[in-house]
Amino acid sequence: MDAETVDLLVIGGGMAGLSAAARVAAEGGSVVLVEKAERTGGSARFAGFVWTTPTVEDMRRVNPDGDPELAAALVAGFADGVAWIRSLGVECRPPVPVLGFGRGHQVDTNHYLDACERMLRDRGQEVLTATRTHSLVTENGVVKGADCLLPDGSRRRIEAGWTLLATGGFQGDPSLRAERIHPQAEDIGLRANPHSRGDGLALGRAAGAAFGRQDAGFYGHLMPAGVSLSDPARFVDLALYYSEHALLFDTTGERFVDETAGDHLTAMALLERPEARGLLVADAGVHREWISASYVEGIPGVNKFQLCHRAGARSAVADSLEDFASMPEEWGYPGTTIRDRISQFNATMRANGATTPGRLLDRRPLDEPPFYVLEAAPAITFTFEGLLIDARAHALSADSGGRHPVPGLLAAGADAGGLYRRAYAGGLAPALVFGLAAARTALTETPAAVGR
Ligand SMILES: Cc1cc2nc3c(=O)[nH]c(=O)nc-3n(C[C@H](O)[C@H](O)[C@H](O)COP(=O)(O)OP(=O)(O)OC[C@H]3O[C@@H](n4cnc5c(N)ncnc54)[C@H](O)[C@@H]3O)c2cc1C
Repeated sequence: MDAETVDLLVIGGGMAGLSAAARVAAEGGSVVLVEKAERTGGSARFAGFVWTTPTVEDMRRVNPDGDPELAAALVAGFADGVAWIRSLGVECRPPVPVLGFGRGHQVDTNHYLDACERMLRDRGQEVLTATRTHSLVTENGVVKGADCLLPDGSRRRIEAGWTLLATGGFQGDPSLRAERIHPQAEDIGLRANPHSRGDGLALGRAAGAAFGRQDAGFYGHLMPAGVSLSDPARFVDLALYYSEHALLFDTTGERFVDETAGDHLTAMALLERPEARGLLVADAGVHREWISASYVEGIPGVNKFQLCHRAGARSAVADSLEDFASMPEEWGYPGTTIRDRISQFNATMRANGATTPGRLLDRRPLDEPPFYVLEAAPAITFTFEGLLIDARAHALSADSGGRHPVPGLLAAGADAGGLYRRAYAGGLAPALVFGLAAARTALTETPAAVGR
């Protein structure tokens, strides 16, 4: 390799990209990291728990349609990822349960991301912020770096043995969301960094990488409908995690999902209902136990209903179920139908009967007034469809039907697809694990040796 060619070029300086770059630098390799924003870190700066399922069996249970090889690699690589974070002097707190089926550690992600960046600079490796990538450089089908646009407008070719795409997915691009997720996804809220707009996917696809899998879905949460998410503090404060204990009705006045399966799954289901909005109903019991409760151990709870109300969300407190009949017409929900559906639901729960849709976990009736009514809509955090990879983070080629790598090309984090299909078991952990896998590949493999 000539002197000007680095071992790894990383495009995207968030969780996956910084993890890969710092690991290569730590092991004595050379790396350039290119970040489009003024500052590195991406959505990872808002996140707090590195977690996934403790076993492969748990992963298969919650994510049965995800790629089994990637799922197993994620679970197998998790402990090493945590050890790597700790090796940088960053605290990973003792493990806690997450979402009922997962396990993980609270981590100061800002400390971690800054430690990665410091590692790069201390080892004399370049971090180029406010820099765009025009195109990948390819030679005989082998990716050999990229042509980048520096903040002063000049162009620079960065040659590399391996190039890692880690730009964080395509959730920031409304038209791509509409095309790849659902037509109604064009208008949903974005609860993530605004820069991840599918750049890595476009670069990868132009170099022959395969993209999939269709209908993979997205990770997101219910948020108060119509409330601006421009302040990132709202991404967590206004997320309606308590929906798992409430009832959600669409604009026809019907339930359509088992709310207790998880707020992130309900968010996906609501996207496909008329107008992608719904009425979330809690009673005094849910208010007392869940509206202000902590979602994950270690994170203090806030009164979400009150915060949403103050933020201007469509909301009301009803003293009795009868009040639903006088719901304002402009809300666009059939109040009497919703009143009747709540009464029927309560009777069924008291008789321990079956409902459609089901109610697996919290089967208490919602019958303690007052009722807290809030209009909710799905908001997106990151996309599950992406460049298909193998467990060593090689981007797989479209020509080979996803069987062989594109030589020289890697992908990780939300730019990588296949891991999850309409299911979720952590976002930081896959970015970390496959970022570190990309580093290992860059340090140990010769691109031309693969993909043939
Ligand atoms: C509010 C919030 C809370 C979250 N909480 C958790 C949590 O507790 N646990 C968890 O597991 N996950 C959580 N997540 C999800 C987690 O943050 C992501 O899954 C993770 O950051 C994905 O890593 P990534 O490297 O793919 O993307 P990111 O970390 O977002 O990094 C992508 C980077 O690429 C940059 N970029 C984009 N385009 C280009 C380009 N063309 N060239 C160069 N750079 C580019 C972006 O600016 C960004 O810096 C949370 C997310 C949010 C928003």
